[in-house]
Amino acid sequence: MLDKLTQKVSDALRAVAGKATITEKNIDEAVDAIKMALLEADVNLRVVRRFVNSTIEEAKGEKVLRSVDPGQQFIKIVHDKLVSFLGDTKQDLELKGPDTISTILMLGLQGSGKTTSSAKLALRLKKEGRKPMLVACDLVRPAAMEQLAVLGTQIGVPVFKEDGAKDSVKVYRDASSWAQKNMIDTMIIDTTGRLQIDEPMMAELSRLKDAARPDELLLVADSMTGQSAVDIAKTFDEKIGLTGVVLTKFDSDTRGGAALSLKTITGKPLKFVGTGEKPEDFEPFYPDRIAGRILG
Ligand code: GDP
Repeated sequence: MLDKLTQKVSDALRAVAGKATITEKNIDEAVDAIKMALLEADVNLRVVRRFVNSTIEEAKGEKVLRSVDPGQQFIKIVHDKLVSFLGDTKQDLELKGPDTISTILMLGLQGSGKTTSSAKLALRLKKEGRKPMLVACDLVRPAAMEQLAVLGTQIGVPVFKEDGAKDSVKVYRDASSWAQKNMIDTMIIDTTGRLQIDEPMMAELSRLKDAARPDELLLVADSMTGQSAVDIAKTFDEKIGLTGVVLTKFDSDTRGGAALSLKTITGKPLKFVGTGEKPEDFEPFYPDRIAGRILG
């Protein structure tokens, strides 16, 4: 899908790029091609409209039509607009200094990549010199605790889990005591995920949030689910509150659309992308790189 998006957009842009003078009609044609490509990439219709309207407004200004190289000027406007819609600059985690324990809640539906991303984030923070630990609070999916333990061993990060535990708040509290005794500075909590959002899950996550008072609440969303990733993010934000989003499976071919819709509709910063199944396959979200990819 992204390949198609990239191809269409770049074709449309190439058509204006070579022109010494461009007219409003040329711009309309290029904008139409961009619009179609974004829609095909599963970008939310409202987002496409908003993006296109603000691009047209600027692109039809005197500055572009009369500039020395209007085609290039137009491409720059589209690129800059995309970067701005995607969040402008890389957004860092907001954690406390190493003398106080910071807490990160990892939220998301089952299968989104929450457990894997928890381990990926732990590895990243470890490489940055922090002392992270992973806490297994996904008590619903039986394999999740074991999966986290295996990943923890693989990356050399301690994993706190209580076999047979029923209450994630109790697990968090016990983990917190363990963290204090063991000089941990960052707790990454893998929370309960289900196949779809339901009240018991939200109630449990709310209790956990109230107990842990996390510095970061990161939604892990599957970039391949496009439109529904946006609905999930909206619901999590309304019910629990989010500080950012991790977009997984960015190594697949449906990676542009979800990022654009998510950021525009929820306003929440995209902080990381998952780019594969291995613990190292994790990068900060750089808006200009993603915009560059979308434009080809
Ligand atoms: P959870 O149910 O949300 O905890 O999901 P998991 O962490 O178990 O991930 C579900 C599946 O997605 C696993 O097979 C992961 O290896 C895979 N996965 C997670 N993140 C990525 C990613 O960024 N790229 C790819 N290709 N696979 C991923």
